[in-house]
Amino acid sequence: MKEHSVLSTIYENICRDTGKQNESAKLIAVVRLLTLSMLIQSFVCCVLVSLTAHTEALAFSLVSPVLFLALFVLSYRCGTFVSYCVLNVCILFWTVMNIYYFGWDIGVQHFLAVLLVFLFFSKYKHERGKITYAVFLFVLRLILYYYCRSHEPVTVLDTNLNNALQIVNTFFIFLSLGLVAYLFSSTTQEMEGKLIEYNRKLMKQANTDTLTGLYNRRRTMEYLETLLRNAETQISICLCDIDHFKHVNDTYGHDVGDVVLKTISDAFRKKLPPDTFISRWGGEEFLLIFPQMNGDEAGTALEILRQKLRDVVFDGGTENFTVSLTYGLVEYDFHSDITTLLKEADEKLYVGKESGRDRIIF
Ligand code: GH3
Ligand code: MG
Ligand code: MG
Repeated sequence: MKEHSVLSTIYENICRDTGKQNESAKLIAVVRLLTLSMLIQSFVCCVLVSLTAHTEALAFSLVSPVLFLALFVLSYRCGTFVSYCVLNVCILFWTVMNIYYFGWDIGVQHFLAVLLVFLFFSKYKHERGKITYAVFLFVLRLILYYYCRSHEPVTVLDTNLNNALQIVNTFFIFLSLGLVAYLFSSTTQEMEGKLIEYNRKLMKQANTDTLTGLYNRRRTMEYLETLLRNAETQISICLCDIDHFKHVNDTYGHDVGDVVLKTISDAFRKKLPPDTFISRWGGEEFLLIFPQMNGDEAGTALEILRQKLRDVVFDGGTENFTVSLTYGLVEYDFHSDITTLLKEADEKLYVGKESGRDRIIF
């Protein structure tokens, strides 16, 4: 528990924002982690180099950890961009000096590749600047290579020390590359995940009615178009409307009216066959689509629903009440268009209303 809180405190401190607007917290965290990694690495190298007697090389090795420590402190005082630039300069300087003192074989030149990856992952949008810097890193690496071919290093290390430095450098290069790639790709994946979730929510909002959670008219038209275009089995469509709903609102209030709408919507979801497409067509009208049923089958399902709904008792405050619906049912004839079908369902609904309500007209 204690260990966890120490680790989380360290992590929070590393991620601590620069306090400036428009600065990326992720970028400054990567700068600090890379600086820490360089600090540890240069310290380990310093210990290893102290095994050689060359004082000039040792002096340089001693300066490096101090340099990265100063940079780490600086990152809490300066903006992200300054810290990022100073880190680049320090790593460049450190790489060049290491090659100058100890030669090509200790492997520090690969840090230029770390800078290249960091450059392209960073949030800065200056594409031309990035390409120029990448070319500079490429040219610098070539210059260093050819310099090493024609010059002996200041300190010629013995094979064991050379190998030890090669191992340490390789480890920290992999660590730095892994850190940069992991931290930046996790942001991308996180953003992608959030975007997918956000799109899903937007799609849901665009397709559903907020009060009842049923599909709205827009989505229903989309569904009907696809369904009728690919119709292979029989399809039935029912337009239904709550009877005397204005009276419910006028007598018990609009809020009670809303409860009625929601309760009826829930009953549709629970009592109708699972593949029924249920939508709020508008106001107190609903459109029910039975994608695999002929008119008789849909009529049977609707009759069960109608009777169940008659038994639902609503609390009107002063008194309890019940409601009924009237249903206009049509069967798809495989050639009518949507408008004709809906008109036919509406006409049947009208007939139902005229002949006393609370009934299914097929
Ligand atoms: P009929 O039996 O002929 O269908 O009569 P009716 O009273 O149900 O029909 P009318 O069209 O006269 O009234 C419908 C009412 O539905 C009027 C409107 O205020 C109400 N309404 C529409 N949408 C909502 C809503 O979202 N919430 C509530 N509470 N009422 C709504
Ligand atoms: Mg009505
Ligand atoms: Mg109506």
